[in-house]
Amino acid sequence: MNSSLPSPAQIARAAELRALLHDYSHRYYVLSAPVVTDAEYDALYHELRALEEAYPALATPDSPTQRSGSDLSEDFPKARHPAPILSLANAYTEDELRAWEERNLKLLPAGAELAYTLEPKLDGLTVVLTYENGVLTQAATRGNGEIGDVVTPNIRTVRSVPLRIPVRGHRPPPERLVVRGEVLFLKHDFERLNQRQREAGEALYVNARNTASGTLKQKDSRITASRPLTAYVYAVVDSRGITLDTQWEMLEYLRDMGFLIAPDAARYPTLSGVIQQIPTWENRRHQLDYEIDGVVVKVDDLAAAAELGVVGKDPRGAIAFKFAAQEATTRLLDVVISVGRTGRVVPSARLEPVFLGGVTVSNATLHNFALTKALDIRVGDVVVVKRAGDVIPNVVGPVTAARDGSERPIEPPERCPFCGTPLVQPEGAVDYFCPNEHCPERVFRQVDFFVSRGAMDIEGLGGQTVKQLIDSGMIQDEADIFTLTAAPLLELEGFAEKKVTALLASIEAAKARPLEIVLTSLGIDGVGSTVAAALANASGSIDALEAATAEQLTQVEGVGDVLAGNVVAWFANPHHRLIVEKLRRAGVNMIAERRAAVSDSLAGLTFVLTGTLPTLSREGAAALIEAHGGKVTGSVSKKTSYVVVGDSPGSKADKARELNIPILDEASLHALADSASPAPVSDSVQPPLL
Ligand code: NAD
Repeated sequence: MNSSLPSPAQIARAAELRALLHDYSHRYYVLSAPVVTDAEYDALYHELRALEEAYPALATPDSPTQRSGSDLSEDFPKARHPAPILSLANAYTEDELRAWEERNLKLLPAGAELAYTLEPKLDGLTVVLTYENGVLTQAATRGNGEIGDVVTPNIRTVRSVPLRIPVRGHRPPPERLVVRGEVLFLKHDFERLNQRQREAGEALYVNARNTASGTLKQKDSRITASRPLTAYVYAVVDSRGITLDTQWEMLEYLRDMGFLIAPDAARYPTLSGVIQQIPTWENRRHQLDYEIDGVVVKVDDLAAAAELGVVGKDPRGAIAFKFAAQEATTRLLDVVISVGRTGRVVPSARLEPVFLGGVTVSNATLHNFALTKALDIRVGDVVVVKRAGDVIPNVVGPVTAARDGSERPIEPPERCPFCGTPLVQPEGAVDYFCPNEHCPERVFRQVDFFVSRGAMDIEGLGGQTVKQLIDSGMIQDEADIFTLTAAPLLELEGFAEKKVTALLASIEAAKARPLEIVLTSLGIDGVGSTVAAALANASGSIDALEAATAEQLTQVEGVGDVLAGNVVAWFANPHHRLIVEKLRRAGVNMIAERRAAVSDSLAGLTFVLTGTLPTLSREGAAALIEAHGGKVTGSVSKKTSYVVVGDSPGSKADKARELNIPILDEASLHALADSASPAPVSDSVQPPLL
């Protein structure tokens, strides 16, 4: 706190922040069309709260820090909630969570011990459902926390909301039950909704939460009914005829009453237990079928939570732990076209730099022109940029409310910007392609890929050098690399004797790479290292692979119709056959090295590996199993014979226990492998499949 008075600039800033936050809240809650991201809203909110904390005189009763934003609109009848529908205070760090517990413990009788529930913070909107004698009689939005908009006809269309609480045994439903939950789109439902929009040629929905909010606030409930909303319920707001002692009991009771419960909620006896789980939640965030923006930690003991009371608009007994923001808004300055090695044309966004998830983002993918059109993204738009996990950021969509008319639609170019060839769009494809196999950009991308780490791994051939080699005409494709000689290389800028000798040595070494590496390097669509290894193993040589039919290829593990088609089409292309021929002439390895099996002690057995083993690497363990005739697969099923478990195993170990599959440590794996005599060499070399 500060005993001095706020400066005129601080008074003005507080007023400005209040006005901004009120405006943003209106756009968010009432119009379901926010113009800033939640993180930007939260940053302004925290700035205002810090100012008010330093100078309490600045806090007006209508400040957004004192009252939550209202979603009330003129279109609906109103209903008073039986108890205030509160918001949640936020924490962003472990320390803030611990400080929250310490504050609470000081307010409770000495010696109190608190257990907690940990629930996902579902990113939807609150709904308050009233049941009289088991029948849904009213559904209301949060409104201003005291009064809500009545949206009963709309909620009746949401399948997961029971219209009548099912009677269990002879127990009648409670006379009165008012519950609170969150309405949202499951990710797959939102995808489906957008798929429908796409098929109808309609604009795509950009943000699931805002679409859910807009859907619930429809005047015509037939529109709500046409969109697949889901409701999860997490609290009893008011009741007659029931007593519940803990939040956990409450969740179980609600589940019993036929409600969908906040998925994956759990109870922990201590705050440390909760804190340990938070990173797992954050990591799993993208695999879940519902959007979350954090987790909610609640004091389990409802009497203690009630005793803790409320501060402003937030209960003290619960707190939201918010995850790092993954969305920001910024301006789309320009669209840059890139052409990949297959000729695929990809538009990317050049953005006004924006700080997002710990880095400054100035480029993001726009995926393809069909999507930019469907989302109606325009150059000059304020756009929402998302960075989920460690994938490249992508432009989610425009903030149409921020347009001033100067924005330009994005059109696909007619010609390849690198070679001028007219672009083609194959039937049924969303992408445009440059069909010119000699397009300098396509050649560059392919060569750059060919020499890269996961492919032929030719040291000394970075992107810069590859460019120099192409520009000087020394290579026209990846196979030409093997014809390079010292004299012309020495002419290149930055190349001296030593560098040239080293480069030629690594080119020479690359000729002996195993067949699966050579196959990976060819850049056949969908043929990554795993598929390449399976193909190399099954075919034994490039010649056999080239001669294989699609039908034969689908016999190979991990190869379906699409992949088989890709391989056949790749070899059918004369340009590709020429490359293979040039590689062969240059002396690049074209056959699979057949490792003789050591024994067949593990023949017919399937293993799954998880965790870190004491001495063997993952590859080492797989090689050991395969050398003894066993097979290694990626996921545990009933067909798995053993799961080999090391330190910090993943969920595969749990799955093994669940399915009663025997678990081995490294020592017992060795013992099992050594349990039979060596196989006769003649039997151990498997003939090629193809
Ligand atoms: P909040 O969203 O931070 O947290 C409270 C809400 O969490 C509850 O109302 C409930 O709906 C939800 N929730 C989800 N799962 C829950 C669970 N398991 N248990 C309890 N509650 C659960 O608070 P708020 O007051 O509803 O909204 C404020 C937030 O809304 C801001 O922090 C901001 O992120 C966002 N907002 C954004 C804009 C914008 O322009 N982008 C404007 C206004 C508000």
